Amino acid sequence: METANNFLKQIIEKDLESKKHTFIVTRFPPEPNGYLHLGHAKSICLNFGLAQEYKGRCHLRFDDTNPETEDVEYVESIKNDVKWLGFDWNEHLYFASDYFQQLYDWAVYLIKEGKAYVCSLSEAELREYRGNFTTPGKDSPYRTRSVEENLKLFEQMKNGEFEEGAHVLRAKIDMKSPNMNMRDPLLYRIRKAHHHRTGDKWCIYPMYDYAHPLSDAIEGITHSICTLEFQDHRPFYDWCIENCPVTAHPHQYEFARMNMTYLVMSKRKLLQLVKEKYVDGWSDPRMPTISGIRRRGYTPESIRLFAERIGVAKAESVIEYDILESCVRDDLDARAHRAMAVLDPIKVVIENLPADYKEELESSVHPKKPELGKRKFYFTKEVYIESSDFQENPEADFFRLSPGKEVRLRNAYVIKCNEVIKDSSGKVTELHCTYLPETKGGKPTSDGRKIKGIIHWVSASECVEAEVRVYGRLFSVSDPENTPEGKDFKSNLNPDSLKVVKNAKLEVGLKEASLEHRYQFERVGYFCLDSQDSKPGALVFNMTVGLASGH
Ligand code: ATP
Ligand code: MG
Repeated sequence: METANNFLKQIIEKDLESKKHTFIVTRFPPEPNGYLHLGHAKSICLNFGLAQEYKGRCHLRFDDTNPETEDVEYVESIKNDVKWLGFDWNEHLYFASDYFQQLYDWAVYLIKEGKAYVCSLSEAELREYRGNFTTPGKDSPYRTRSVEENLKLFEQMKNGEFEEGAHVLRAKIDMKSPNMNMRDPLLYRIRKAHHHRTGDKWCIYPMYDYAHPLSDAIEGITHSICTLEFQDHRPFYDWCIENCPVTAHPHQYEFARMNMTYLVMSKRKLLQLVKEKYVDGWSDPRMPTISGIRRRGYTPESIRLFAERIGVAKAESVIEYDILESCVRDDLDARAHRAMAVLDPIKVVIENLPADYKEELESSVHPKKPELGKRKFYFTKEVYIESSDFQENPEADFFRLSPGKEVRLRNAYVIKCNEVIKDSSGKVTELHCTYLPETKGGKPTSDGRKIKGIIHWVSASECVEAEVRVYGRLFSVSDPENTPEGKDFKSNLNPDSLKVVKNAKLEVGLKEASLEHRYQFERVGYFCLDSQDSKPGALVFNMTVGLASGH
């Protein structure tokens, strides 16, 4: 595959060449506090992809150090999503919570080494003592506590003898450091919260910045890849590795978070959309979650292709949503079964056919895959066409059906429109046409007239009706987070992001549509069955993506 400006590959290749490492170990470390989104998908493809490419391995590790926001529901959905994307952690499934005892022991070790202390400043005082970018921090009055006192207090913290916020454990580094993350960062805080895995065993929990490097070291991670906002945390990452008695020395590398136009990519914001019911749960097909795009019909192959195409950048950028959609189209074009479907029907009555006329016609399931065989459908006296394929007063460049004009019904015959029937309100209800028997299957008219337009159609008597959900973008502007004073990203939600077509008319063979296949409704777009709501006899299709960009 193409090596799209991936500086990480260069680093790994150098490390392998110099024998700094002989085996590459990466990890994907989600916090189980929400469903994964496209940004995570990028990180999964990157970490698992690098491990695959260099014949190493990638761990799935849950960074579960915040008991209040985490849940097993999220753990399960994350495992599902990683598998669905096509990756396998084999036996290497880990939880930071599995290391709580080890992390505690190392904290005790740091205290004994005089490198950590129990601080009893309040939260507000901690903030004040920390200073800011222009003001250096001040030493905490508790910084000089003796090792014995620190050991005793830390143990009491562990035993639940103090209230939340009474004390914290801090690293003793440098309150004057220009890097705020090095100003005696917190290692532990008291949280009397139930943890989804360790239950009530612990009432002190390690901070992410302390737990993460040490978890990497415990697992022998060689390349710890994270997003740019952790760049300033790297000195503390290294401090933990250097000052705790670990045997492995992982190194942290940063790449730019993936952002995309028309989306928000933050679990916190996506959670708001779910909780406040702007969408129908985490797996709403409009959501940029992996479970959402899966239900929408995006394929794992298209996401992996996308991750490869966009490459890995060191500087923040915003990826056009169109790039993702073109990856989805490229993948679906090669596999989708073809069918005809009319979403906004208008009835056509073929005057020169008897009422019970039923002719079997066929076409290929896939134009480039003869091995998939043929599909059958019927030409009958009444058929449906898309109402947008008819114009009573045609524009100059309109070559489809209009009064007195001819058009070819795809895979069938040329028809000519003789009469337009309207209801009392003037709305067109039927078109009366004649068909040209000699034009079957793409043949010319008897005098060789050129028929410019080809449209799709479905038999009115030999069809299946279904609900079709057509999606627009979830947000109506390309940068949803850019809002005027007093408004938030939700004010940019697209009110027309879901259009439900109740009685779409589908080619009869789609009665047997199945979840494992993808479909191209010819001239319309790519569709799949909805995994939650579709039932035999009451089919529901989701539109995955339109045929051309901008749809
Ligand atoms: P969010 O801000 O959406 O909550 P997060 O970074 O807090 O995301 P984690 O569960 O901590 O979520 O992330 C797991 C991994 O996924 C991390 O290594 C993180 O760097 C990576 N990741 C998260 N968002 C993106 C993104 N937009 N682009 C690339 N990688 C990402
Ligand atoms: Mg996070």
